Amino acid sequence: MLQENIDREDNLQKDFRNLERWSFHIFTTELQTLPKNILLISTQSKGLIISGPGPTKEDFINGNYLEYRLQNMIINTIDASYSGAEGIREAFAKSGELLSDFRMVEEKKLIEDLFREINSHSGLGVYGLQDVIELLKNNVVKVLIITDDTNLNRVEGKCRRCEHLQEEIVERREVIPKKTQYTSNPCPGCNSMEVEANEQDIVDYLELLAAKVGTRLEVVSGSAEHGVMLSSLGKVGAILRYNPGHTKQVVS
Ligand SMILES: [Zn+2]
Repeated sequence: MLQENIDREDNLQKDFRNLERWSFHIFTTELQTLPKNILLISTQSKGLIISGPGPTKEDFINGNYLEYRLQNMIINTIDASYSGAEGIREAFAKSGELLSDFRMVEEKKLIEDLFREINSHSGLGVYGLQDVIELLKNNVVKVLIITDDTNLNRVEGKCRRCEHLQEEIVERREVIPKKTQYTSNPCPGCNSMEVEANEQDIVDYLELLAAKVGTRLEVVSGSAEHGVMLSSLGKVGAILRYNPGHTKQVVS
């Protein structure tokens, strides 16, 4: 029972981490002081949860306070017993599950889209880390999907003298041996012993590459039903902007 609670806490925290890209916006204003048709908040917002005590939230929803696009983004309402700061804390606590359900539906759709492209041989669905990275660098990837449990890291060895770069993606336990290998061997470029080694989490690395080319990166839960489907393909997949033609349909 205790373990169950701990697992649940962990999951909630993970959910919130996954939701970091979501914007949370909280209005603490009295209803009557809210301007009609408040315009958006943020184009990045994916959904709105309206929380408040008693009928206040229905008044808010029905009172046309929101611009119609925002109105359509309402996911659900939460009954809060408190108002003010305590009410906000309460809304956060209660919205965890709601948001995690919402995210799960989103992840399911993403992975179904990926499998549809792969199974229909449209050339738009690919998987396998190395191929996905190549396609990403070539700006062909529309959406990159990776599970949150790959345990992979990118290790790079860079020569301080000639800037020659060595890199490899390895599992967690191989990070230190790989770094040692880079730093204890001469640079393949200039033979100097000035190789400096660094490591980075695979998601951080992909995030940097994705940002450069405007690719959407989605980190999905590897333990959820659809994450397991992606895991069976090696935990990394991508939906492409177009069929690059010569791309091999990877078997990893
Ligand atoms: Zn060198």
